[in-house]
Amino acid sequence: MNDIQFTPHFKLSEFVSSETATKQGIENNPSTEAVENLRLLSVHTLEPLREALGLPIVITSGYRCKALNDLIAHHSQRSQHMKGQAADLLVQGSKFQVQGASPRELLIKAFKTIITSPEIDYDQLIIYPTFIHVSFVSHSDNRHKIMSANGQGTYRALTRAAALAIN
Ligand SMILES: [Zn+2]
Repeated sequence: MNDIQFTPHFKLSEFVSSETATKQGIENNPSTEAVENLRLLSVHTLEPLREALGLPIVITSGYRCKALNDLIAHHSQRSQHMKGQAADLLVQGSKFQVQGASPRELLIKAFKTIITSPEIDYDQLIIYPTFIHVSFVSHSDNRHKIMSANGQGTYRALTRAAALAIN
């Protein structure tokens, strides 16, 4: 696979590499359409988030082919990961820039930044205990749906105000 630099901080290989896929011998190869969706997610959601936070973002799961998606616990059959429209991420803390902030505090900061920053667009945003799931479809089709999840399969819809009150 030829790597593609989508934006200054995000490239295709970050969304495709998967330890699980490698271990299981799954070829996690996105279609041309999925690659284009990953590019749009980078341009409209992830790069503006990286810019607003000023902190490195680590993609823990991006594109998932069906075989890979089937292996993920609590996966959805309609997962936007399978279309290249979603990424799971965490914020890598920098002790020089954010003194004393815990990984959870950085996660909440990123979560709220996605909601409040006018430069960032998203379709669905879910905060899990240890990571954030965010997707992008298109400016016209994005639902701006916010949820919290416990990582055990339980999801709770949040209003914008409730989401911004999380701490
Ligand atoms: Zn996800």
